[in-house]
Amino acid sequence: MKDHMAELAQILKIDQTLLTVKEELEELPAKVRAVQTELKELETDYQKKKAEWDKLDTQVRQLKQQNSEDAEKLKVKEERLNSIKTTKEYQAVLKEIAAGKTSHKERETLVQQLSASWEKLAQELNPLEGRRQELGSSLEKEQGEISERLEALRSRLKEAEAQLQEHLGSLPEDIRHKFRRVQEKRQPAIARVVDGTCQECFINVPPQLFIEIQKKQEIHSCPNCHRLLFIQLD
Ligand SMILES: [Zn+2]
Repeated sequence: MKDHMAELAQILKIDQTLLTVKEELEELPAKVRAVQTELKELETDYQKKKAEWDKLDTQVRQLKQQNSEDAEKLKVKEERLNSIKTTKEYQAVLKEIAAGKTSHKERETLVQQLSASWEKLAQELNPLEGRRQELGSSLEKEQGEISERLEALRSRLKEAEAQLQEHLGSLPEDIRHKFRRVQEKRQPAIARVVDGTCQECFINVPPQLFIEIQKKQEIHSCPNCHRLLFIQLD
């Protein structure tokens, strides 16, 4: 029976490795997902601002273009004034020039306002662009690292599972059966007893039971968590 306790100690070790490996296996994809989510949110924000920026850019260009065309027209009209013979026509052209100047000025004001927003957006876009590239490459790198790590963990898992089966195989059928039943509910399914205390659920086992465990004649279960108990044999 002493050997069975030694087996249990081994099984617990393997079980703990298995649990750690499984935990990491579950956590790894979440890391990638977090970066993906951040990147997606950033992308949406970036695209929205970029579209606004493009729109402003086009507007400013068009307004500037229109103003430079109008300036040409005004120049032509002003030159024409010299050759006009009738007062009526002269007045009419003067009026046109005044109106042209007003709309030119209005457009210039608008260009200034739009340019200010354009500039502000450009400043917001800059860091977004940087972060976007940074996340993109970190995602790529992390995905590569994670898939390598996943591979290593999966083979470690397989190895530990094989070891576990081997150790379980050397236990009598009834202990193995108990082990499996506990394992369905809680893991690890084995607990060490130190100074009469179950090291998994931390209750003190009844003194009589502790005496029995110390005899190492039989494998007992914790009355609280039902894990198979052993005492360290070193
Ligand atoms: Zn317990």
